[in-house]
Amino acid sequence: SAKAAGTNQWAFFKQQMTERAAVRLRTEASLHDALINKEFVLHFQPKLDIQTGQLIGCEALIRWQKDGRLISPMSFIPVAEETGIIIPLGQWVIEESCRTIKKWQNEYNFSLPIAVNVASQQFEHSSLVPDIKKAALRYQIAPELLEIEITETSLMNDVQLAIKKLDELRSAGFGIAVDDFGTGYSSLSYLRHLPITTMKIDRCFVSDLPKESAIASTILMLGKQLDLKIVAEGIENEAQLTWLQERGCLIGQGYYFSKPLPLNIFEDKYIKQHSTEAKTLSSR
Ligand code: C2E
Ligand code: MG
Ligand code: MG
Ligand code: MG
Repeated sequence: SAKAAGTNQWAFFKQQMTERAAVRLRTEASLHDALINKEFVLHFQPKLDIQTGQLIGCEALIRWQKDGRLISPMSFIPVAEETGIIIPLGQWVIEESCRTIKKWQNEYNFSLPIAVNVASQQFEHSSLVPDIKKAALRYQIAPELLEIEITETSLMNDVQLAIKKLDELRSAGFGIAVDDFGTGYSSLSYLRHLPITTMKIDRCFVSDLPKESAIASTILMLGKQLDLKIVAEGIENEAQLTWLQERGCLIGQGYYFSKPLPLNIFEDKYIKQHSTEAKTLSSR
């Protein structure tokens, strides 16, 4: 009967919910352990000036090293947000990024800006701005070397709060990028009031290039009007790169240049050469 079928569906639904809750609880508990056991690592993806090929910065992207495997942030950041673990986890990312900036300065005499992703829950938490300031102070790094990436969606949740926090971060000197731009629901009138420095064109609009280019063109124009740096995310081939170069896009990131790399490999490929350059110069 229809009623029995309904009851069965309900039972099935309940069972599914219970399983999902159980998986979530397990992930929550292991995220907590993972933080204590230092199982998280940052990988680094270069950001290049696409007109000259020069390295201008990098983005720190978290991974979870679990039982010899690397787990993607897409699968644990949402759980970390739901459970609140994102606060200490996000704090770790900020600390680790500052420590790395200092390490490169100390060991290779090279100052490279790092962009750090901040989740919605973390952005809204009252400790975010003081935590970022404290980390920069503790590691004695110039705030200009740390760029905070916040998704368009987080900024639009509570615009007044966003303006207040971004003003504090900006006046302290930190860079601010709107991540995944074009995928959220920004009100353009508010965007004008946000003290941001950079807009990152979401990968999905770059992957459509050069065939579908309306959105990418619009974002590039908007960036020029608002006097913002535009970064194109997810450049994977020559055709995309050429299209962006020809339209005056200045900064790019993507597998075409490099995937995100573990610290030691990133240092080998992008950082160490600068210390030899610096040494050659000073020994002349
Ligand atoms: P995102 O900040 O937009 O980072 C860009 C993502 O695109 C990264 O995925 C990067 O590896 C990937 N990507 C870069 N270039 C290409 C390309 O050419 N092709 C393709 N197919 N992908 C490319 P990843 O590392 O898996 O990170 C996914 C998302 O997880 C990030 O998106 C960010 O939202 C979040 N995330 C990563 N690290 C952190 C973190 O430390 N804290 C927080 N809160 N979120 C993070
Ligand atoms: Mg990002
Ligand atoms: Mg992005
Ligand atoms: Mg993203």
